[in-house]
Amino acid sequence: GKGIAVFTSGGDSPGMNAAVRAVVRMGIYLGCKVFFIKEGYQGMVDGGGNIEEANWSSVSSIIHKGGTVIGSARCADFRERAGRLKAAKNLVDRGITNLVVIGGDGSLTGANLFRQEWPSLLDELLSTKQISAEQREKYKHLHIAGMVGSIDNDFCGTDMTIGTDSALHRIIEAIDAIVSTAYSHQRTFIMEVMGRHCGCYLSPCASTYVISTGFKCFHPWVAKFIILFKMDNDHPALDVVQSLLESLPDCVGPDEDVFSDSQERSAGQRLNIIIVAEGAIDRDGEPITAEKVKQVVVDNLKQDTRITVLGHVQRGGSPSAFDRVLGCRMGAEAVMALMEATPETEACVVSLDGNQAVRLPLMECVERTKAVAKAMADKQWEKAVQLRGRS
Ligand code: ADP
Repeated sequence: GKGIAVFTSGGDSPGMNAAVRAVVRMGIYLGCKVFFIKEGYQGMVDGGGNIEEANWSSVSSIIHKGGTVIGSARCADFRERAGRLKAAKNLVDRGITNLVVIGGDGSLTGANLFRQEWPSLLDELLSTKQISAEQREKYKHLHIAGMVGSIDNDFCGTDMTIGTDSALHRIIEAIDAIVSTAYSHQRTFIMEVMGRHCGCYLSPCASTYVISTGFKCFHPWVAKFIILFKMDNDHPALDVVQSLLESLPDCVGPDEDVFSDSQERSAGQRLNIIIVAEGAIDRDGEPITAEKVKQVVVDNLKQDTRITVLGHVQRGGSPSAFDRVLGCRMGAEAVMALMEATPETEACVVSLDGNQAVRLPLMECVERTKAVAKAMADKQWEKAVQLRGRS
């Protein structure tokens, strides 16, 4: 059977284990020899015990666990040809010519580069007598199938990345928790949610916060930041937020409905919570930090104001049902893609399109993702939306 190796790379996300499990079991079911590579590319470069054959039971009892049981790492060595040469040798030694990479766009870019370089890496291994001519011929094609594991939903081509749904659940739980304490006091709470460079990618999540927590959202589509709030519509803090928003990029305007929700007003809403996406910037490209927002609120309202930074709490914990199912489906599809690959088949990324698992050209998606990030950095918001497409 074919030799397949699965590894997780870059930031971890809930649901990666479900994907690893599916790859192992689907691979074994189809008669392949399946390997784990531990600690991402570092394990591939270092070899030894980092590359281990998996069996049916080695993925038992992992589907409900957060993070990745086979470890993930950033690996400087793999960025250099010398590191990739070592990795190639380790794979050939074990008869592995199929890789399933679960990671972000960096990890997928590395995999694609590795695939492009593969013939020349094998030539070098042959000329330095590290592999035989027979091995050179037998293992001449490397096939790659990728999946995106990230809580940021930051990849073009897929409607959802593995981990986003779980992170949303975590954020919602945290918001609910803050809401109950905020109800009890005349305080303003500012919550910072993760999403580093990717307010844009977080925005589909923002729509979800809005629906699932009843928050109001300024510009639920694309922005380098998201500010959500829930407070009395007559509350003076609204003016503060309003003026804050006026200093923000052009594409962002307050939702007209926000100020005209009379039902909520007459109900005497006393919540005063502002959610700021990490990575928010203003019109001049200056960061809008939770601290800055706090200062605006304190200066204008003289109100006791507290900041909660969710940080890695959003990334941890057990995966949601959705992410478990997504990981399983993507993992099985990735193995199918490798089974059906011909020497001409390009590296693919397994994606969710509506309710369908689809295979898309890996590099096209990576390039589009990078182009979106660049458009955002250049403050070309409309271009970013266009490039991003519906997902
Ligand atoms: P993510 O996959 O989450 O985007 P990184 O960008 O940190 O995370 O990438 C994870 C790892 O993938 C890096 O530590 C490196 O080993 C490898 N990698 C990323 N980009 C490249 C590249 N251009 N060439 C080779 N390897 C890369």
